[in-house]
Amino acid sequence: MKRILVTALALGLWSCGEEASEAPEEEVKAVETNLIAAEAKTIAAGLRDAALAGSGAYTLLESLTTEVGPRLPGTPGDARAIAWTAAKFRALGYDKVWVETFTMPGWVRVSAAAEIVSPYPQKLVITSLGWSVSTPAGGIEAEVAHFATLADLMAADPALVKGRIVFISNRMERFRDGSGYRSAVGARGDGPSEAAKKGALAIVIRSIGTDNHRLAHTGGLTYQDGVPRIAAAALSNPDADILVRQIERGQPVILRLKVLNRDLGTIETANVIGEITGREAAQEVVIIGGHLDSWDLGTGAVDDGAGVVITMAAGAMIGELEEPPRRTIRVVAFGAEEQGLFGARAYLEAHKDEVQNHIIGAESDFGAGRIWAFQPGVAEAALPVMREIWRVLEPLGIEFGDGTGFGGPDLIPLQAAGMAVLGLRQDGTDYFDLHHSADDTLDKVDAKTLDQNVAAYAAFAYLAAEYEGRFNAPKDAEKPLGPDRE
Ligand SMILES: [Zn+2]
Repeated sequence: MKRILVTALALGLWSCGEEASEAPEEEVKAVETNLIAAEAKTIAAGLRDAALAGSGAYTLLESLTTEVGPRLPGTPGDARAIAWTAAKFRALGYDKVWVETFTMPGWVRVSAAAEIVSPYPQKLVITSLGWSVSTPAGGIEAEVAHFATLADLMAADPALVKGRIVFISNRMERFRDGSGYRSAVGARGDGPSEAAKKGALAIVIRSIGTDNHRLAHTGGLTYQDGVPRIAAAALSNPDADILVRQIERGQPVILRLKVLNRDLGTIETANVIGEITGREAAQEVVIIGGHLDSWDLGTGAVDDGAGVVITMAAGAMIGELEEPPRRTIRVVAFGAEEQGLFGARAYLEAHKDEVQNHIIGAESDFGAGRIWAFQPGVAEAALPVMREIWRVLEPLGIEFGDGTGFGGPDLIPLQAAGMAVLGLRQDGTDYFDLHHSADDTLDKVDAKTLDQNVAAYAAFAYLAAEYEGRFNAPKDAEKPLGPDRE
């Protein structure tokens, strides 16, 4: 971004806006290479166009959300999802299909209720945050200690917090790239332990979401070791507004909170894997995928059923070609992403001796919006070949992105271990209206938009698997970060 800005300023183009500023950059970089055979590009373009004509991804998502539904690790829905995925991989003609199980702590929600007791009694819509402990059986009734942000809570005098229910009201901002999430989500992840350190009895937050529906957004919290665990819940955004307005009236606000959740102990879940075996270098894999688990309030259509079916359909289309690509296409439906990348870590542990055979990866985990940018996370030397691959995706309305790409949350451990990634960045303008809420359902997904995503994944995966060279990780791979770390 910075480089474009400098070029634009030098040419006096800044007043023309961003679009004009990109033109000179394009000219400087437009050295065309031929690192991938023309025939492979023709095949990839064929995959792209066939996907646009109908990839079957929506039908898969309809099946997953109808026949399985919510998929919280350790629940019957999760077990059904694992069986569903393996069966679909087989039905779609994948050469190898297998399930890699792992264990983790299990957690389920039971109930959550909140009401303002005074000054103006009203019931509020809330939901527990993932991992939240329960309140005592009779609930908690206490005065609310309101903070606009997590930073304000952390800076506060403990005397203002002790014995109270903390309320953080920070509002998530809407952006296409979802960058409002990162700055708001600390209230959810770190708020509970920060409040508990100062003696709070419980915490409620404004949902980390951009909608104004009366639905609360869940999501994982992180209890710090050695800090008391307090119950934590999210208010729907309109309910958070009610609470703020009552607080603004100036009288103490008393909240009653009753939360019940259940610890399942150690549970077993799995990553489900399907492969299209490469014709020459079968041990080398191009890995694509999404996460199979979902939160329990919706049916996990956009988070992340979409990512699973987009990549599943892309792999299936490559499998239908007359001849598979040189390298293997491995599609992974990761388990237990939402509760802390358990599946991603289990995958790395199971495959740590073959990390160097993971040539490049891309995970779809940002909803079901159209892809607008192609952002490589590769070594500088691999940028020319990535530009060649991008040329095949360009007709999909995808621009070449600046900066280091984020390959998706489940690829963080592999990227940190040296794997190259590609960020196929989706339009997330509306994603956080739905994210982790009961509104995450099939009706929000557009079949044609899914097809555009499949077209991009299929063409990319095929070309990356055909290319004879390597991509290698970017220099800064040891600390990959992205907008959707959940
Ligand atoms: Zn997700």
